[in-house]
Amino acid sequence: MAETPDYKQTMNLPSTEFPMRANLAAREPGWLEFWDEMDIYRLSLEANADGPVFILHDGPPYANGHIHMGTAFNKVFKDLIVKYKTMRGYFAPYVPGWDCHGQPIEHMVEKNLGSVKMKAATQAEVRTLCREHAMKYVAVQAEEFKRLGVRGDFDDPYLTLNHAYEAGNVKVFKAMYDRGMIYKGAKPIHWCVRCGTALAEAEIEYSDEQSDSIYVKFEFTSRPEAWADRPERVFVLIWTTTPWTLPANVAVTLAAKAPYVGVLHDGEVLVMAEALVDQVAAAAGWDEWEVLGPRVTGAALSGLHYRQPIHEGVEGVIITGDHVELSTGSGAVHTAPGHGEDDYVVGQKFGLPMPMPVLDDGTFDAGGGPFKGLDVRTANPVIVDWLRERGSLVAAGKISHSYPHCWRCKQPVIFRATEQWFVAMDTAADGVRPLREGAMEAIATVQWIPAWSINRMSAMVADRPDWCISRQRAWGVPIPVFTCVACGETVANDATFDAVIDLFETEGADAWFTKAPSEYLPAGTACARCGGTELKPEKDILDVWFESGVSHTSVLDARPELRRPAELYLEGSDQHRGWFQSSLLTSVGTYDEAPFRAVLTHGFIVDGDGRKMSKSLGNTVSPIDVVAKSGADIIRLWAASADYGQDISVSAEILDRTSEAYRRIRNTFRFLLSNLNDFDPAGAVLFDAMPELDRYALVTLSDLVRDVTVAYDEWRFHTVYRLLYEYCGSDLSSFYLDVLKDRLYADAPDSVERRSAQTVLAAMLGAMVRMVAPILTFTSEEIWQLTPVPLRGSAVSVQLAGWPDLAIDEETAAPLRDAYGTVRAVRDVVTKALEDARAAGLVGKSQEAALTISASDEAVTVLAARPALADLFMVGSVALEGGADTVGVLVERAAGEKCPRCWNIRTDIGSDAAHPDVCGRCAAVLERL
Ligand SMILES: [Zn+2]
Ligand SMILES: [Zn+2]
Ligand SMILES: [Zn+2]
Repeated sequence: MAETPDYKQTMNLPSTEFPMRANLAAREPGWLEFWDEMDIYRLSLEANADGPVFILHDGPPYANGHIHMGTAFNKVFKDLIVKYKTMRGYFAPYVPGWDCHGQPIEHMVEKNLGSVKMKAATQAEVRTLCREHAMKYVAVQAEEFKRLGVRGDFDDPYLTLNHAYEAGNVKVFKAMYDRGMIYKGAKPIHWCVRCGTALAEAEIEYSDEQSDSIYVKFEFTSRPEAWADRPERVFVLIWTTTPWTLPANVAVTLAAKAPYVGVLHDGEVLVMAEALVDQVAAAAGWDEWEVLGPRVTGAALSGLHYRQPIHEGVEGVIITGDHVELSTGSGAVHTAPGHGEDDYVVGQKFGLPMPMPVLDDGTFDAGGGPFKGLDVRTANPVIVDWLRERGSLVAAGKISHSYPHCWRCKQPVIFRATEQWFVAMDTAADGVRPLREGAMEAIATVQWIPAWSINRMSAMVADRPDWCISRQRAWGVPIPVFTCVACGETVANDATFDAVIDLFETEGADAWFTKAPSEYLPAGTACARCGGTELKPEKDILDVWFESGVSHTSVLDARPELRRPAELYLEGSDQHRGWFQSSLLTSVGTYDEAPFRAVLTHGFIVDGDGRKMSKSLGNTVSPIDVVAKSGADIIRLWAASADYGQDISVSAEILDRTSEAYRRIRNTFRFLLSNLNDFDPAGAVLFDAMPELDRYALVTLSDLVRDVTVAYDEWRFHTVYRLLYEYCGSDLSSFYLDVLKDRLYADAPDSVERRSAQTVLAAMLGAMVRMVAPILTFTSEEIWQLTPVPLRGSAVSVQLAGWPDLAIDEETAAPLRDAYGTVRAVRDVVTKALEDARAAGLVGKSQEAALTISASDEAVTVLAARPALADLFMVGSVALEGGADTVGVLVERAAGEKCPRCWNIRTDIGSDAAHPDVCGRCAAVLERL
């Protein structure tokens, strides 16, 4: 293998400053500084100031704690899109936002302060501490997002605690109030006794809970006709799992069409659904009973009265409803409209009263009768015993079932009617389309990605109850209305709303809690009912989902570089019931249109086995740790490679594989850069003057650009990733680049053959670096800055370099694609044959082989028409034989000797007397040098 040093000096050996080892963790911060200094965000906007507009509106993460893999994925995903759009010439501002209000921050402040100090603190003091906590984590997370390479207006993000943002809430509330979509009403809602607040559906978690399961008999006061001539007393038998709701019972609901029977047991007649008699008998442990005729429908019993089980002298009524189940219980549903959604709905339908004996703290008031003062959580056994003593209890047991819990304190919640503010889904002012109808129509105008998510969104909006928007907390934006102290009437009109908008814009929502209404309301503001002028500001605050939802007004409308509707909202799929929905409802309620043209959702982050990440499982991966160990580009490449339509796995092993893929891509760039150090585009070879293989290479590159662009446009980043990764592997390294090495290293530096190869490499570098730039934001910049200046032109950053455009007309491309399709199919067989020959010790390097290829006449015709076929297969010589059904390859040792300069096996060594050691080609090169 001895090589004459002289010859080595005559070769064009590759060289570049682009190192093989990425060392991303150490190098990336330098690029962040580089971008900071040039103010890349501003430049990206200026460059496309006249371009089409693309607004990706950021959903605000919660300003509490450090970022995790989920938020990291989401932000990187957004950055890929924004950077891609910028490179395509779009004006694509990205304003990051933070959700700064809400219970979790209040909870943290309470934890830090201790409950004693917390109770003593005023609402204004608590708010100051909450603000400090939120601002601290806005700063922490901003730095963490920036470290991931995310580009945006981090100097001026939107915060839901900004004055102008807070005022936007009032603008939306005012519009919806004026349109008759906001009302105050009593309604059963999830109520956490521990936290003392109403909870939204999104704040509820379900888990198993053991409850009482009791059967109670209520005696009819108006005797059912069916059993009118029986001598026994007649009862309706109910089943319930919440004994504490019995004081609020006003009705028993039956299934209208189901058959009911009287069951004679122990000298009494108990009326229940026929289908459940055996179940009841088993639960009660009856030995003997008798089903009495006749059979009657629930509807036939409707309107009868019974003795209320707790309150002396009070009667309840039998009604019918669709929610009665005939699989468990007795088919007779105890109904307390203040304690359940179904009960509330059926209560409204039948005009039932809605007694509410449970106070905010979870204890009974006088309406609890004998249980006054008891806590509902401890009342159950007391009530069960009380019923047993009075002989009303027919059976008692326990049941394990799914029960709603508070997301914050994890305690079981109760259903309880309270005075709350609601967004009405189905009613509005005269001439205004109700919200549900408008929202359903708006959903149909939006592009939902993945496509199935429209079903999810539609179903959620179609089924949802009215939206309870009030919360009994301190840290948020107040419900911007007043109450007349004299008569209790709500005072809210355009003048008071506008005064509050002014107040919030200038002083922020804090002023609501520190100023008297008379200080900011217009003089003479008075109650419309009684004329009273003493007004009390509402104490409750808005649901944080309402707050983050109004960003279409507080951000998109308010900032000059943005506009409403946005092109895209992009969050995890849990936001169908969260931010997407609250944004949609407040936007339709205010403007009659959706705030977004497209909504993209991605799955949740799970570990390598598909399990949810949790500290207790010890399977969490911290993006901060990954950045410190492997670099942000590895997270970005992982994010791009994920099929986000389902849950997204991450683990140390998965990230190792990502690093492996990264190295392949990096090495490809290194090859391209290292063979272009002496190339000037002025010396580029025109397409038609290129060797055929180079023209084919440009066709494959052009195809790649087309496919990658389509995938980007459809937000299929995992396809982008796969295309680029595979191109760096099979298409480039193992075929074209390998074949090219001989020309690049051994041909004369300025020969057409070598310059043609470099022309292709330059095109590859230019296209590839742009196509990976949205993903590998750091590495692509490193490549760009090491690209020879003549190749990169005036763009100071790859982010401003635009998008490759390499369309080759089909007339030219198609024949090349066809011909080389055949060549590559044959080459696969050749490669295998060479491996076998090498294993058998027949040849060492492939250049030592002489091939005889047998194939079909058609294939042989195609192969014979290719110039330099031996070079394509990187062998000494190729002979062709037609007439075969399948491709066969015979490998023999090539005749000739190894050229000491280019290492090819050649028969023309010594043909040039001036350079007797080397092959004819090398002799010619040496002659030129
Ligand atoms: Zn709670
Ligand atoms: Zn009044
Ligand atoms: Zn040679």
